[in-house]
Amino acid sequence: MEQIKEKIRNVPDFPKKGIQFKDITTLTKEGKSFARVIDLFDERFREKNIDVIVGIESRGFIFGGALAYKWKTGFVPVRKPGKLPAEKIQETYELEYGTDTLEIHTDAIRSGQRVLIIDDLVATGGTLAATAKLVERLGGIIAGMAFVIELAFLNGREKISQYDLCTLVTYDSE
Ligand code: AMP
Repeated sequence: MEQIKEKIRNVPDFPKKGIQFKDITTLTKEGKSFARVIDLFDERFREKNIDVIVGIESRGFIFGGALAYKWKTGFVPVRKPGKLPAEKIQETYELEYGTDTLEIHTDAIRSGQRVLIIDDLVATGGTLAATAKLVERLGGIIAGMAFVIELAFLNGREKISQYDLCTLVTYDSE
């Protein structure tokens, strides 16, 4: 995991002052590192009979798309408001200041399908919890959640503790 961690770039004060942004583009531009992430998610969840991968906009698309190709499963995007063209449902969740909303097409998941949710990073856990609600409203069964980075000091795991979670790199402080 250290090889993965050392490829992640920390960018102070982006997108605003005080935030230590974890930039995964320095990881994904290296073929071996990118493939290692996908292989680790594969090893962890391959026995879980996943039907569909749900990736969260936008960095969840990078990892989710690659794993969906490896498994020959479907890929479903969860997107920010106004991006999906057809009939959709949405979930709004609390941020530190204000709220955010995510959407999914109503026909994206069939009831009973087994879903793996993927994003690059869990911070407060709000994004993953809202995505889980969208999937469950459509009748999907959440077989797991995979993310490359966990900011453990924000305790996001508490919001999604009922699920089978996989994280590759943990930060215990900023
Ligand atoms: P949260 O809902 O608080 O768990 O935030 C997770 C979402 O925000 C993910 O989609 C991340 O890509 C993004 N995010 C939050 N904090 C950071 C950070 N420090 N560096 C990079 N991305 C972040």
